[in-house]
Amino acid sequence: MKLVIASNNDNKVRELKGLLCPYFDEIVSAKDMGFNADIEENGQTFRENAVIKARAVARALGCAALADDSGLCVDALCGRPGVMSSRYAGEHGNDMKNNLKLLKEMEDIEERSCRFMCAVALAYPDGRCIVGEGSCEGVLLKDFKGNNGFGYDSLFYSRELGKSFGMATEEEKGRVSHRFRAIDDLISKL
Ligand code: IMP
Repeated sequence: MKLVIASNNDNKVRELKGLLCPYFDEIVSAKDMGFNADIEENGQTFRENAVIKARAVARALGCAALADDSGLCVDALCGRPGVMSSRYAGEHGNDMKNNLKLLKEMEDIEERSCRFMCAVALAYPDGRCIVGEGSCEGVLLKDFKGNNGFGYDSLFYSRELGKSFGMATEEEKGRVSHRFRAIDDLISKL
């Protein structure tokens, strides 16, 4: 079966392809299929946003589409940046500005527990939709550690890996990540 990944984030597309390749014959991005429209993510939760994106692309392209909505939730900030993770500093997808804003807000705070959360939605052109969810626990670092990954990876110390996601290989991150767990949950429901 062919699957379209409903995301313009090349990092997410790469990670999702790696996690999903055992389950689908062909995986392409929406961009590969010529779909470039901006979809308004106006949901209040990761789940709502993932469903909005997957349904829009499945309807537009007439094939199964998978969308990921994810972000970092910091306990001391009551769950922020949360669904605002990609535009926390105002400009969509500016990882450095988002990271610096978060570091500044957390400057004097010692309680730094946080988690990455992810919802993945698989939508079909007939409107059916299946959702998987996952999270991974960590600690917000006070400084950048490592250059791997994207987004907040260099500020996220994974309790399970014993190092930051920025220092982990893609394979290591893929074993414990929120995205891996959301895909696992989705696959168990198929
Ligand atoms: P979305 O495209 O609205 O789901 O935005 C997701 C945002 O959350 C990204 O731009 C990153 O800032 C952050 N994020 C989600 N997953 C990860 C991850 O695996 N590592 C680092 N940051 C992530």
